[in-house]
Amino acid sequence: MPNTIHIPTPLRPFTDKKESVEVSGKTVGELLADLTTRHEGLRKHLYTDEGKLRNFVNVYLNDEDIRYLQREQTPVKPGDSLSIVPSVAGGASTSAKVGSPGDPTSQRWSGGPPSRTAPVDPPKRVAREGGPTAAGAPAAIGVQPELSQDEITRYSRHLIMPEVGIDGQRKLKASSVLCIGAGGLGSPAAMYLAAAGVGRIGIVDFDVVDFSNLQRQLLHGTSDVGRSKLASAKDRLHGLNPHVDIDTYETALTSQNALELFAPYDVILDGTDNFPTRYLVNDACVISGKPNAYGSIFRFEGQASVFATKEGPCYRCLYPEPPPPGLVPSCAEGGVLGVLPGIIGVIQATEAIKLMLGIGEPLIGRFLIYDALKMKFRELKLRKDPECPVCGTNPTVTTLIDYEQFCGIRPEPQAAASGAAVSEWEITPVELKQKLDAGEKPFILDVREPNEYQINKMPGSTLIPLGELPRRYQELDPARDIVVHCKMGVRSAKAVEYLRSVGFKKIKNLRGGIIEWIDKVDPTQPKY
Ligand SMILES: [Zn+2]
Repeated sequence: MPNTIHIPTPLRPFTDKKESVEVSGKTVGELLADLTTRHEGLRKHLYTDEGKLRNFVNVYLNDEDIRYLQREQTPVKPGDSLSIVPSVAGGASTSAKVGSPGDPTSQRWSGGPPSRTAPVDPPKRVAREGGPTAAGAPAAIGVQPELSQDEITRYSRHLIMPEVGIDGQRKLKASSVLCIGAGGLGSPAAMYLAAAGVGRIGIVDFDVVDFSNLQRQLLHGTSDVGRSKLASAKDRLHGLNPHVDIDTYETALTSQNALELFAPYDVILDGTDNFPTRYLVNDACVISGKPNAYGSIFRFEGQASVFATKEGPCYRCLYPEPPPPGLVPSCAEGGVLGVLPGIIGVIQATEAIKLMLGIGEPLIGRFLIYDALKMKFRELKLRKDPECPVCGTNPTVTTLIDYEQFCGIRPEPQAAASGAAVSEWEITPVELKQKLDAGEKPFILDVREPNEYQINKMPGSTLIPLGELPRRYQELDPARDIVVHCKMGVRSAKAVEYLRSVGFKKIKNLRGGIIEWIDKVDPTQPKY
């Protein structure tokens, strides 16, 4: 009986779109070797040049992390299955990203208190007796706010449940959640938290509502396009439940403000879309002792867990280091099924409510993976890593660091801002237009997916999706000038790197992709 390896969505371009691959071998290492022999393009995603498994790729034998078994030497039985679980950052649109020092949006709130549009008075803190609950949750015990007659009517379906009841509802009223991002995950999460009667909901975001948000970000409506997401969110949430306090923070989450922002909240709900913010939220949660209701989405797959409780693992126990920039596409590049954040965001809200009430079995030490196309949930075991640099026995990260640097993201060189290409391997849309106007005829290679090619295309371009390049690059003529493009320039940069590695020399990446081409050169084409 062969063994099966489950392939996560981001890696399927390298397995001819297969979601699982049948392999054989006696150990985990042999199965992976068989996989990369069958699908050569996967090798560099799974292994370093020295042949070591990359540490942002986690491999599970059935539901166990191989790091806690015998790693690649772990023996496998017939019928066992392997899962490859890469880190995925998808969530809110680009709004809640970590502010860099030069980023004006991150300076809207520098030092001093955040520009809260909610009541400026510090919210009433409830006296807490005893420590956290068994779940490590900050369930409020002690003097709790009374419920008004209106609230009793509103929450009646909670009140008649023994698991919540009057005491639980008062606990929720005394509790607070900070949502990082008011996008795909933050929308359903904040709406259900508000409807459920969580007393105070904070939202950190600095984005503006865009038409492309409306397919999934239900906090915002068509008439909100162009408004600040926070203003739109606040109206929507107060419309749902006027008894809830909404605190809005129009700022990027940064290493400078995170601990102060987190301090007044019981649970942090991570709905961000990029690795620097993921690690920042995680570390700030561990350092401030706040549980992190985590969710992440990509295309039709979602992940959820609860990190950073006292006894449970944190995000870094699972992924000690982020993948190199550009390896994992964002939702803006890869797309996301509109209903997916609805499911995952509501799971995050459910976990936050359970933590605040101290009921049920939270997703602590459990990693939930949801596949919307198959309508399947899988669950993997997570362990707290005693060597974890943040939550381990001897932590080395005890204050917040520079997360952009940690994730290998450097600010764009000055040249980029001035509109000139930054390296000999790049060309800007304006430079390309000048060449075309001068009669030059470079070969235009589009490395997007066929469905993107249907939406818009560069005149005379040829489509070879990035994942197919390793077996199709012979179709290209190395003697010709080649310009490679994708949607925004990330995938095409990888294509250029790959083609250079196989000997192409007359090759350039179109900076900013077809989106910048449309913005700067050809506004008649639709954008997506
Ligand atoms: Zn940890």
